[in-house]
Amino acid sequence: MSHKITLIRGDGSGPELIEQAKRAIDKAMDICGKTIEWEIFDAGADVVAKEGTPLPDHVIDSVKRNKIALKGPVTTPLGKGFRSVNVELRKRLDLYACVRPCRYYKGIKTRITNPKNIDITIIRENTEDLYAGIEFENGNADTIDLIKFIESKNKGRIREDSAISIKAISDFGSRRIIKYAFEYVKRNKRKSVTAVTKSNIMKFSDGLFMHTAEEISKFYPQTAFRHKLVDSLCMDIVQFPENYDVLVLPNLYGDIVSDLCAGLIGGLGVAPGANIGTDCAVFEAVHGSAPEFKGKGVLNPAALILSGVLMLRHINENDAAEILENAVAKVIEDGKYVTFDIAEDTTKTVGTKEMTDAILEEIY
Ligand code: NAD
Repeated sequence: MSHKITLIRGDGSGPELIEQAKRAIDKAMDICGKTIEWEIFDAGADVVAKEGTPLPDHVIDSVKRNKIALKGPVTTPLGKGFRSVNVELRKRLDLYACVRPCRYYKGIKTRITNPKNIDITIIRENTEDLYAGIEFENGNADTIDLIKFIESKNKGRIREDSAISIKAISDFGSRRIIKYAFEYVKRNKRKSVTAVTKSNIMKFSDGLFMHTAEEISKFYPQTAFRHKLVDSLCMDIVQFPENYDVLVLPNLYGDIVSDLCAGLIGGLGVAPGANIGTDCAVFEAVHGSAPEFKGKGVLNPAALILSGVLMLRHINENDAAEILENAVAKVIEDGKYVTFDIAEDTTKTVGTKEMTDAILEEIY
């Protein structure tokens, strides 16, 4: 059986990492007598000159057709230039659920003293909140009008020279992601959901998210539920990560807490992710394009390969997924052919391709 899947190479270090992830996924599928027919595209900074946009329509059309994509990271220019390709992709395909499992693999050096019980899944709302990028530039006439409007409603004073970003949290968006989190727990035989907000300060937006979570939790009596403020969660999860199972968060907190949790299990090199919508799903690592490493071939391929494992499970290729995950786990545990970020002895490390070669050796 063959699957047709879109592959977006990304930019920066993306193409060299995705090439290795593709090799590993193809081998795991091959062992199971299956194949993937890849439709390969570029996106990001390198595409702008040729296509006039970092995310051409034919890339989106391919994902819509195939329903599944594996994506390399894409650079977002800081403070200027084109808007985030990642945000655009999530918006246009309505990939509302960002799922990021943070599981500790034996053998990885981490600063946590007892990491073996860490198995946290982050479920981040992916389409709204401050992260939607609805912004008003400082000094702009619209911004000044908006400031005057807010003041006319007695909602507080805003300095005239301010820039403004809009934080919108909807009932629809909150309900959809929170239901997804509880259903995820049920499907994957997990135990608890922790909803994370700053509802003591943002009583309307984060308050809506929190109250919706409290309401929906009543329909899932088998699943333990609690709410935690994001600042308090950040401290507690570093000290007692084993107390957390599935977290559900609005977009921006989800982004930040994902990196924090990746740090608990050994870093971004081993943190996979998925963006799930009603029709399509795009699988990608938590990490970005790490442009300073471009062309060096030294980054850890595990995060993208493990994103491939999530993708294989999503398309019900569970045997290939298990074979591939076990191969990654074995190479990490052996520790002989691993990249600099997770090596016990930093004088004995291998590059992206060599670590993938070792993973391929374990697929049989
Ligand atoms: P980054 O994740 O690219 O890199 C931060 C650091 O993490 C790197 O310097 C490196 O030390 C480490 N790291 C990342 N990936 C690694 C890997 N595979 N193996 C080992 N170590 C790894 O974050 P950044 O530098 O803040 O972002 C660079 C660019 O990527 C930005 O333009 C950002 O907007 C973009 N970004 C894209 C995505 C995405 O495409 N989904 C996600 C996050 C950031």
